[in-house]
Amino acid sequence: EVYIQAIQAGRDMNAYITETPDVALERARESDARRAKGDAMGAMDGIPIAMKDLFCTEGVLTTAGSHILDGFVPPYESTVSANLRSAGAVMLGKSNLDEFAMGSANITSYYGPVKNPWKATSGPNQGKDLVPGGSSGGSAAAVAGGLAMAATGTDTGGSIRQPASFCGIVGLKPTYGRCSRWGVVAFASSLDQAGPMTKTVQDAAIMLGAMAGHDPKDSTSAPLPVPDFEALMTGDVKGLTIGIPKEYKMDGMDPEIQALWDQGIAWLKDAGCIIKEVSLPHTKYALATYYIVAPAEASANLARYDGVRYGLRVPGDSLDDMYMNTRGAGFGEEVQRRILIGTYALSSGYYDAYYIKAQKVRTLISNDFKTAFESVDAILTPTAPSAAFALGEKQEDPVAMYLNDVFTVPTSLAGLPGMSVPAGFSSTGLPLGLQVIGRSFDEGTVLNVGAALE
Ligand code: GLN
Repeated sequence: EVYIQAIQAGRDMNAYITETPDVALERARESDARRAKGDAMGAMDGIPIAMKDLFCTEGVLTTAGSHILDGFVPPYESTVSANLRSAGAVMLGKSNLDEFAMGSANITSYYGPVKNPWKATSGPNQGKDLVPGGSSGGSAAAVAGGLAMAATGTDTGGSIRQPASFCGIVGLKPTYGRCSRWGVVAFASSLDQAGPMTKTVQDAAIMLGAMAGHDPKDSTSAPLPVPDFEALMTGDVKGLTIGIPKEYKMDGMDPEIQALWDQGIAWLKDAGCIIKEVSLPHTKYALATYYIVAPAEASANLARYDGVRYGLRVPGDSLDDMYMNTRGAGFGEEVQRRILIGTYALSSGYYDAYYIKAQKVRTLISNDFKTAFESVDAILTPTAPSAAFALGEKQEDPVAMYLNDVFTVPTSLAGLPGMSVPAGFSSTGLPLGLQVIGRSFDEGTVLNVGAALE
């Protein structure tokens, strides 16, 4: 009830697209009843959470932040949200996001932008409304602003980690395959991964445990047992080797971000870690590779929104006209841009030059990490190149927006786990995160190292 009231009082933030107070109260009562009866309690029993509106929820409107899914009420539940429910979690509502999870500022949502609950205390953006990051901007703002105790996010190129950094919370993108994609509206299927957004690293460990697990309904879901992530957080990082990738020290890096990174290195050294410079030589190609692979997959995934099967339909004189009218009115500008880039990259004359080339570079990027992880246990980098920026900034410049993902995209291409942990503040009083990257399916080390930075 406290959270339902907070959500109503905090509507100005626009963190939720759909509020589900009735669902929340019903699940909370079920949880109370289990407690009263002395039944076994789930790992998330009674915990009020926000669900990114990219997860299909049975009987509850699911929009993906798009006009084209108008009125779409899924007849089934995503595996991740079902897992959370079985663990006792209480869903407060569906949180706002960039349209089809495409964005880094939560400004492409059909349902309007989300406001970051933080405000700069000095500098040119003092007092202005700031973006929460994206695409899981509603989830991050809800957790940071006290409108949920935790939230689900999805991350294709940084959408859990970057908003976590902008809002001063913890965001963990697990290894690709750790959480089922079944029932998650697809953006780029070889990259999409669900994960927890929480106040603490320990909360992330608990929530990941509840979300994860093999799912026969997703052929890319890993047939591995789910470890007790919380137990893997031993609090002892002594003797671990932490890699610092030299290619991430980019020209023109904000000195505050460099200072934060140096601070993180110093903390880990004090905790007994061995710090080692590593090289990820293909890092400079990661953004270009991502912005071929992700739009290519998106263009195929979004072909299903044809005005027949889901949501919006805008009539036309012929079937083709109806398709065009529906897609023209239903998709926003950024989504249309991605579909155009993707179909171009996949077209017969350019497939080899762009798509196949990008896939090859993706393998090189992945191999860079494999080599690095032969000599280190985890890698430490900044999460994002800046603190949260003002609403309206970078809006007209897609490339400036894409640069937000420079530190998060390589991990996504390699399918590795990465977590953003709040590690400090900018001189203007805004939170900044550091990213811990781990070996495939080694979220345990990521969480353990992350806790040492908290
Ligand atoms: N900002 C990136 C993009 O726009 C990543 C989005 C995401 O991870 N879903 O594609």
